[in-house]
This record gives sequence, C-alpha cells and structure tokens, in this order.
Amino acid sequence: MRLFNLAFGTGRGRRVAAALALLLVAGGAGCRPASDAGPGAPLFAVTIPPLGAFLRPIVAGRAEVVVLLPAGASEHTYEVKPNDARAAARAVALVYVDESLDGWASRLDARARLRLADFLSPDSLRHYEGSGAFDPHVWLDPAVMRAALLRTIAALSKLDPAGAEIYRRNGEAFSIELTRLDEELAQQLAPLRGRAVVQFHPSLFYFLERYGIRTAGVIENIAGQDPSPKQIKMLADLVRAEKVEVIVTEPQLSDAPVRALAEAAGVRIAHMDPLGGVPGRETYAELLRYNADALLKAFP
Ligand SMILES: [Zn+2]
Repeated sequence: MRLFNLAFGTGRGRRVAAALALLLVAGGAGCRPASDAGPGAPLFAVTIPPLGAFLRPIVAGRAEVVVLLPAGASEHTYEVKPNDARAAARAVALVYVDESLDGWASRLDARARLRLADFLSPDSLRHYEGSGAFDPHVWLDPAVMRAALLRTIAALSKLDPAGAEIYRRNGEAFSIELTRLDEELAQQLAPLRGRAVVQFHPSLFYFLERYGIRTAGVIENIAGQDPSPKQIKMLADLVRAEKVEVIVTEPQLSDAPVRALAEAAGVRIAHMDPLGGVPGRETYAELLRYNADALLKAFP
C-alpha cells in the first residue's frame, strides 16, 4: 500500500497547507458535481447521495462523481435503470456501502467496485440489538467517516494513480473539516444528550449515538397505513417508560401515519433526512447540519 501522510493538525506549515487545500475544496464544491475536473476527467459512480457528499471533496479538481439513487427513493429497494448501467460502465469504479444496504449495486457491471464497509474501522461499527447484524447506515457519523478517509484515498489512488496527490491533499483538508463539523454538532446538540427518540426506519443510530441521543425503540415502517392500535400502545408505553419526546421520520416515509401516531402518543416529530441529495442537503456538512437542526427544532 502507498504511504499517505495524513498526520493531521500538527505544525504551522501543515495548517497553512491545509487552509489552502480547504480553499480548493470550497472552490470545487460551489460548482457541483465537480465540474471543475474538466473534460475527460475520471468518473466515480456512487450508489447513494451521502456517498457522493463524502467522495466529492476528496476528488474535487480531479474526478467527477455521479450519484445513482434519485432523491426520495429508498436506498434498500431501488431498481436500477439503464442510465445507471451506463454510468457504472463509464466509471473508474462503482462505490457502494455494503450488500446489506445497497446490494442493488451488484446488478450493475463496473470496471471496479469499492465497498465503503471495507474502509471503515471495525471498532467504529455498531450492530443491531438482537440480530447482531452490522448496521450499514454508517455515513452520518463524521468520526466514522473520518476514520474511513485513509483507506478510501488509498483505494481511489490505486485505481487512478495520477490523482493520488490531489486525493491525499483534499483528504487531509476534508479530515480537518470533519473534525470541526463534529465539534460544532457536539456543542450544538449538547442540550439533547440523554434524551430519547423513537425511529421508524433504523437509519439514524450512528448520528444519534454520536451525540448522545437515546433511541428508545424502533417502530416498523408503517408504509402509508394508519397506525395500528398495537403501534399506538407501543409508543405510548415507550413515552411513559423511557420518557420519549420525539419521533424521528424521514422524507422517504409517508407523513400521515407518523403524524397520527405522534398525535395519539403526545410526542413531537423531527423531520430528519439520512440521505440528502437535494438542495440545502447536498454537501456532507449541509446534510449533518440539517439533521442537527431538525432535532433541535423538534425537542420541546
Ligand atoms: Zn436504510
């Protein structure tokens, strides 16, 4: 493996270099998607918008990123389209999270495949209670993603050696940005530490646990139907026993049953978004800040 000097944040020269690199990243991020890469630039295809948000700052100025999953679609059940096959075939690599999340990527032919799960640090992964299965919704914890940077950069550089220096420099700046973002959110969300939510789609554990917010329960996706008496009772019991104050919902889930359930149990709703990919939630920082704001607005 190549040597990547990512010893961040030491020495004045390094800080100046990092500041310059940050400017570069900021310049690239303004004209999405990485159109500053120029004609003939290498292309990376990614399955879901947050993977695009993670990759773009690393490849800015060198490669383009195309996201396959359209906004509003489920990352679990998406059906690939002819367009996706064309993009995957053109790409240097197809980047996905894990077979247990966006396994539909395996239906696309690609020159190379990069699996985010291979880049994650094993001790940063959480497992679902009960089943013990690995929770693949890893991307909303900036510390988890920061720990994945080094291996991600190594993999990109192996596929595109001419971009290695750019990836290394961009990655260093992005690492600093992730650390700052994490500190900012920890401070902002400090008043919510120890307080409890209920999730529908169990996609937000990494974010919530990172900032000390408890998930008292997960109520199975009620797919557009009115909440059942059993679900209402389950939530009411949790509200009493665990002091649940907020139900977390997502744009991918229908709103009416969530509202009915929240009203019946006397809790509030946080409209969070694990995927983003729409204006205002496109960059990694935008997506995380959006989710922090949604929680802060919802808690009484
Ligand atoms: Zn999911």
